[in-house]
Amino acid sequence: QRIGVVVESVSGETRVAATPATARQLLALGYEVVVESGAGAASGFGDQAYLDAGASIGQAWNADVVLKVNSPSDTEVTRLREGATVVALLAPAQRPELLRTLAAAGVTALALDAVPRISRAQSMDVLSSMANIAGYRAVIEAAHVFGRFFTGQVTAAGKVPPAKVLVAGVGVAGLAAIGAASSLGAVVRATDPRPEVADQVKSLGGEYLPVDVAQETSTDGYARATSADYDRAAAELYHRQAEDVDIVITTALIPGRPAPRLLSAEDVAVMKPGSVIVDMAAAQGGNVAGTVPGRAVVTDNGVTIIGYTDLASRLPAQASQLFGTNLANLLKLLTPGRDGQLAIDFDDAVQRAVTVVREGDITWPPPPVAVS
Ligand code: NAD
Repeated sequence: QRIGVVVESVSGETRVAATPATARQLLALGYEVVVESGAGAASGFGDQAYLDAGASIGQAWNADVVLKVNSPSDTEVTRLREGATVVALLAPAQRPELLRTLAAAGVTALALDAVPRISRAQSMDVLSSMANIAGYRAVIEAAHVFGRFFTGQVTAAGKVPPAKVLVAGVGVAGLAAIGAASSLGAVVRATDPRPEVADQVKSLGGEYLPVDVAQETSTDGYARATSADYDRAAAELYHRQAEDVDIVITTALIPGRPAPRLLSAEDVAVMKPGSVIVDMAAAQGGNVAGTVPGRAVVTDNGVTIIGYTDLASRLPAQASQLFGTNLANLLKLLTPGRDGQLAIDFDDAVQRAVTVVREGDITWPPPPVAVS
């Protein structure tokens, strides 16, 4: 079968679903690989690099398997062959109309954002690989805007105190942000309703700030919506920290819900001029009052609130490389014969979970997967 790697049409998208290196992995699985001309340009991969890897440059939309980063638009869906398979981020929970369009086109659709968060599927988990990059980049964006050192220094010309950074939400992105900020020399604190993250915060050089109100425990590793008591105690913590820290990175998300509001306008108002907030939940409604998705805004008291929603795309070559590797790992699972023939096994929980449309039938949501 032929795999097509297409140009991303979403404005500002710099990633590509396969790099020359991951195209080689797809070729090794027995597929032919066709790349649309210019597909890798924004990540620094020219057509020649794909040709050197053994792929060809040409018409990719009529391939048997089309690989993409973002969901196809309605017009793009019409470019898919009937019976083709499209693999991309599809947000099946948020976009039932897209699933209907894909089903009507008679295709099979695999949603990369539906990979279950279990150990066996970690190598295919683009949400984790992209969150890791985005968390690092959030710190770089903050450091760029913050007109001061992150690290403390004692020099002949005087003493410079280290910057203080608060990371709210300690999932994959939060951990990457803690690691990046501590390696730049900042004093890093972090909080999360899941107390089990305390050791991870410490191991990355941060201090865990608990909110001492017991939370409902979850069995799947994800946070539940927090209680009113928890939110009251957390609000006090955020207010005190807002007065003290220079940088706040928020990453709090609850699956299937809008992002929880962590910092109010009053909290932002007590921050020092020149402070920076990066709200990584901007696309899901934001953790901070005043965030504008996709933009950086400066408040009346001189605090910059960054709401960029393309943080992973700001490190395009590596984001594409990790995304492409996750995709190649998924394709490996789906190509048991290594013969260039896609064979989806519905008895396998991972393959079942990612298949949101099968040959024109909507197959989302899948039955629940046990955590392992
Ligand atoms: P996420 O993106 O859903 O949420 C980010 C963080 O926000 C989480 O740590 C969550 O606890 C926190 N949060 C929620 N409500 C909050 C609030 N009111 N205040 C502050 N923080 C709040 O999380 P994620 O990055 O996907 O990770 C969630 C967990 O799943 C982690 O423990 C991670 O290690 C685990 N995980 C496992 C796998 C795997 O095994 N394949 C893959 C990814 C993540």
